[in-house]
Amino acid sequence: MPHNLWREIWILLGIAAVSLLLGEISGHPYLIASLGFGLYIALTLRNLVQLNRWLVNKREDVPDAGGLWGEVFERIRALAKETERREDRLQEMLARFQSASAATPDAMLILTRENEIEWANPAGERLLGIVTPRDTGQRLINLVRDPAFGVYLQRRDYSEALEMASPSKPERSLSVRIIPFGSSQKLVIARDISHLAYLEQMRRHFVANISHELRTPLTVLTGFLETLKEMERPETTDLKKHFHTMHDQALRMSRLVDDLLTLSKLETTPAAHHESTVDIPAMLPSLKETAELLSGEKHHRISLETDTGLRLTGNEEELRSAFSNLINNAVRYTPAGGQISLQWGLENGNPVFAVTDTGEGIAPQHIPHLTERFYRVDTARSRDSGGTGLGLSIVKHILLRHDANLVVTSQLGQGSTFKCIFPATRAVLVGRQAQPLSA
Ligand code: ADP
Repeated sequence: MPHNLWREIWILLGIAAVSLLLGEISGHPYLIASLGFGLYIALTLRNLVQLNRWLVNKREDVPDAGGLWGEVFERIRALAKETERREDRLQEMLARFQSASAATPDAMLILTRENEIEWANPAGERLLGIVTPRDTGQRLINLVRDPAFGVYLQRRDYSEALEMASPSKPERSLSVRIIPFGSSQKLVIARDISHLAYLEQMRRHFVANISHELRTPLTVLTGFLETLKEMERPETTDLKKHFHTMHDQALRMSRLVDDLLTLSKLETTPAAHHESTVDIPAMLPSLKETAELLSGEKHHRISLETDTGLRLTGNEEELRSAFSNLINNAVRYTPAGGQISLQWGLENGNPVFAVTDTGEGIAPQHIPHLTERFYRVDTARSRDSGGTGLGLSIVKHILLRHDANLVVTSQLGQGSTFKCIFPATRAVLVGRQAQPLSA
């Protein structure tokens, strides 16, 4: 039996004994006993009233008392403290959940059994146009009116996601998933997949382009083979002419395949692949020599200005491919006798490789599209000069992998400058302070 219960029993026995004694002395035992027990009951009632008042208004402190009542109050105080701590923990968890759901880029909604909105995160407004608390309690079907969504919501099988346009921004594509939970409640998650849809569209264009690009040389080759097959006594001059054309077309196809392989390698290998300190000043003279060979009878004047103290952190093979693509373009799009200058140095602290030509130039509306696959300003011109339409997209990919930008400035009829601007962090200064690029 608890200690405090014994104490109460002793108090009651004490009151009874004192009442008996005083009753004997005074001659009024019942009166004295009633007074004693009445006092005890009054004190008990006072504690009960205090307890009741505390239960009604829990903000007050738990009342103080001694004995069994004190113990009861103490236990209630401990219980209240524990509940308070639990509430704080729940509050903290709720705040964490709310900030996590606010940070998620996906729209999240909780629906009741009747498909009414119970809760939505901020992305719900951006992607689905659901604003809480304004829309809380509304049926989702009344706000997302795409019929396909209505059918999907009524379905029991949510194993596959639904793709639909965003109700608030129709140009964006969403992938919507429903996850049933609890007692017939649903969690709706909508993800913005516009970039995936865009990539898919790019892939479709790319396949269409590549089929188109390969069809022309193949048609020429099969056409000439057909002619050769039918010829009874072919003249050697005819044969030579036809074989020459076939050889040209076969070369064009193999250039295309080479460029496609380069692009796919760039897309499939991780960036920062085989990086080292690349001695660009040592690489450029050989690129200049190749350009002079390519220039041949066009006799371009090709100059090279290099900062010998500046090297670059990167992938040597990729950088060589990017720079030679830019140099080859300058040679191919600059008329005979034109000037081509190659520069390597620092510009505002950034390592820069620039190719400037006095060629045909590019109209401003074409410049933003030059790095798209198969984009050409003049298709016939590009093909005649041996272009595949993939050179600048290879350059863009390589520069992206080196955290660099391609900046094109050009004036029609005057010439163009293609600049590869690398981040300062990739510069490696050797021997002496690097020199700024001359304007
Ligand atoms: P292509 O194989 O056709 O040269 P690129 O991707 O290398 O493909 O270049 C895309 C287009 O950009 C070219 O078709 C051409 O119209 C234009 N272009 C590239 N470099 C130059 C330049 N130096 N001068 C003028 N036009 C250029």
